[in-house]
Amino acid sequence: MDLAAAQQVLKTTFGYDEFRPGQSAVIQQVLAGKNTLAVMPTGGGKSLCYQIPALLFDGLTVVVSPLISLMKDQVDALNDNGIAATFINSSLDYREINERLQELRAGDYTLLYIAPERLDSQSFIQALGNLPIQLLAIDEAHCISQWGHDFRPSYLALSTAIEQLPTHPQVLALTATATEQVAQDICERLDINFDDEVNTGFARDNLDLTVVKNQDTDRYILDYLAENANEAGIIYATTRKEVTRLTSLLQKHHIKATMYHAGLDDNVRRQNQEDFLYDRVQVMVATNAFGMGIDKSNVRFVIHAQVPGTLEAYYQEAGRAGRDGLPSVAILIYRASDAQIQHFFIDESEMDDEHKHRSYRKLQVMTQYANTQGCLQQFILKYFGEASEPCGRCSNCTDKRTAQEITTDAQKVLSCVVRLHSRYGKGVVAQVLTGANNQRVRESHLETLSTYGIMSGQRQKSVSELIDFLTAAGYLQAVGGQYPTLTVTKNGVGVLKGETQVFRKTAQKVQKAVSQNDAL
Ligand code: ADP
Ligand code: ZN
Repeated sequence: MDLAAAQQVLKTTFGYDEFRPGQSAVIQQVLAGKNTLAVMPTGGGKSLCYQIPALLFDGLTVVVSPLISLMKDQVDALNDNGIAATFINSSLDYREINERLQELRAGDYTLLYIAPERLDSQSFIQALGNLPIQLLAIDEAHCISQWGHDFRPSYLALSTAIEQLPTHPQVLALTATATEQVAQDICERLDINFDDEVNTGFARDNLDLTVVKNQDTDRYILDYLAENANEAGIIYATTRKEVTRLTSLLQKHHIKATMYHAGLDDNVRRQNQEDFLYDRVQVMVATNAFGMGIDKSNVRFVIHAQVPGTLEAYYQEAGRAGRDGLPSVAILIYRASDAQIQHFFIDESEMDDEHKHRSYRKLQVMTQYANTQGCLQQFILKYFGEASEPCGRCSNCTDKRTAQEITTDAQKVLSCVVRLHSRYGKGVVAQVLTGANNQRVRESHLETLSTYGIMSGQRQKSVSELIDFLTAAGYLQAVGGQYPTLTVTKNGVGVLKGETQVFRKTAQKVQKAVSQNDAL
């Protein structure tokens, strides 16, 4: 089977003239019988990578997807396109499931969508064993890795399930978010050759990244929406309470907004989602429960009103803007108190210690993203293991403020960290530098240090922000999980020795909510 046949299906069944980047490489490998990992950005067109082979193969293609709420829609859309597809998930009763399995055995379908939870049942795996499965497509494959941000235990059952299938189906794993470590983990667990990873890169050239700090969130969002009155967008918040509050705020200002979170009734959720998908409202305010698998192409902006817990989650959610390839924006509104909320979630979660530790580390990376003065896109790509040049479009690349030399202040902070023998975190360092006189300081006799009070002219909050900056810039490193302690890096030593100068843009940033059109 060759690519020409695939090209033909692309045109006649789906109505597209050309493959998107990565699609032809993935399809070619799958047709050649290779287990494959496809890493493509959100909106990159991962679905066609298994749908086209499914149509060309004689056997059945099974798609494992965590998006139960969307399965029916996806299958309906395929059926409308004349493709025989069906799904099996917890929304069906025993009788319906058996009926479908019978039809599948008779070869009535090309594609079967299942939820990963199905694989928890041994009897279901046995039932699958009776089907002529040729290809197993695993969507959101990063969920199989404990190193990822969205680990799902059911995914672990995949590898054993595959071994038990008598047809030894081929595997195609797909994800939009995988660090090198996660990609490696996926390959190992699913028996994919490292060389058979197709990675189109994570850069989204039509997405402009912005970080907004020290601003009134409500004011910023209202201004932004006033400037972009006709554009559809998503506003993410961490808690249901904040989602509800923001939604009423927008509605009070006559903005057509609706909301989505896991606490709403199924019917209400479905209705709100459709209102947004079909442009009956402009804005969707939601928790992270919203969005996976949502195929709305004309989302022009994604605003995070509160910082999420990981950079992977952030980029995945932000990436829901601009799936049609047109210029779009992703804005992160950052407040340290929101990072504290995420910290609290981890404290309270039931993860084991190792997993908690990892989650704290991921939150630190997210915080660094918010505090870096380097290119935001470059920061993200580097995190995913990709080298790149500054993008020239993000809010840091376009920040016109001139940088001030702050080497002396930096040296004060760094030498204080050294004096504290890297045993304390940001809070104590800032307290010592500003000469705070509290119990913590007195108990440990920190007021006797030579660096005590050497920045007493400054507010503790601004010293804290300076520490965040020095950490994001790589002069300091936060070590440890829940209560990270600061330590000076090799670059930081260069600053202490006077070999390196430190520059920082410090003047208050005036971050007006720019119109999408101004930016073009
Ligand atoms: P992903 O799963 O990677 O986020 P999808 O598979 O949902 O992305 O595809 C995103 C959108 O791009 C869909 O509307 C899809 O129909 C469209 N699309 C996919 N491949 C192509 C192509 N080759 N040409 C044009 N549009 C495409
Ligand atoms: Zn940039």
